[in-house]
Amino acid sequence: MKITFLGTGTSQGIPIIGSDHPVCKSANPKDKRLRVSVLIEWKGFNYVIDCGPDFRYQMLRSGCDKIDAILFTHEHSDHVMGLDDIRPFYFKQGNISIYAHQRVLKALKKRFDYIFAIKNKYPGAPSLNVHRIKNKPFQLNEETVVPIKGMHANLKVFGFRFHDFAYLTDMKSVSEKEIEKLKGVKILVVNTLRVEPHHSHFNLEEALEFIEKVKPEKAYLTHISHLLGFHDDVEASLPDHVSLAYDGLEITI
Ligand SMILES: [Zn+2]
Repeated sequence: MKITFLGTGTSQGIPIIGSDHPVCKSANPKDKRLRVSVLIEWKGFNYVIDCGPDFRYQMLRSGCDKIDAILFTHEHSDHVMGLDDIRPFYFKQGNISIYAHQRVLKALKKRFDYIFAIKNKYPGAPSLNVHRIKNKPFQLNEETVVPIKGMHANLKVFGFRFHDFAYLTDMKSVSEKEIEKLKGVKILVVNTLRVEPHHSHFNLEEALEFIEKVKPEKAYLTHISHLLGFHDDVEASLPDHVSLAYDGLEITI
């Protein structure tokens, strides 16, 4: 299984438009973060988690030329607004499979009504194979994927476990019961917004506590704000088994 971090930034990305913050002005490529997403290449299939506003550029940059499914964590704009840009894949492959909770599907239908239209559909609009998922394991090309439910303030969001790899973003709390589903995972990705507390995201301290509960072999932090600091400074301060993810980072399990 190969994982490529397509984006590791929080909702506005880094740099933020018009910002004079030193992290936004940094020349280090690792301080430039598109909106969060990962590409999972597994047994000949390509899966993408979330499809935010940077999706088009992320696909070009990663060289991804086929998508077998998009899994959605939740419906916030930084996770869904690239859905129209599945068109090149749709033209080549036909309907694109998406997996999401019913509530997320409802939000997608509202925002992208033309994609879901049945009558008089615009000829250039893409079409989907829609898979509604609940908080229980589901099959993806004969492999089992386990959703992990967490709370993003008062919104339920899904993380996903693919065998030895788990990806969680936009979490503020995860129950002990859900943490049980992560036991034995080798690589854990989890959101870390900044140092100061935030009402809907783990800060650095909460993310490190969460990692201590799950005890993966290695953890990567994502959904990062400029307020967390410069990549190299934060990386140097972390325990050995924890690293900051950065755009373009590839890991193989
Ligand atoms: Zn987000």
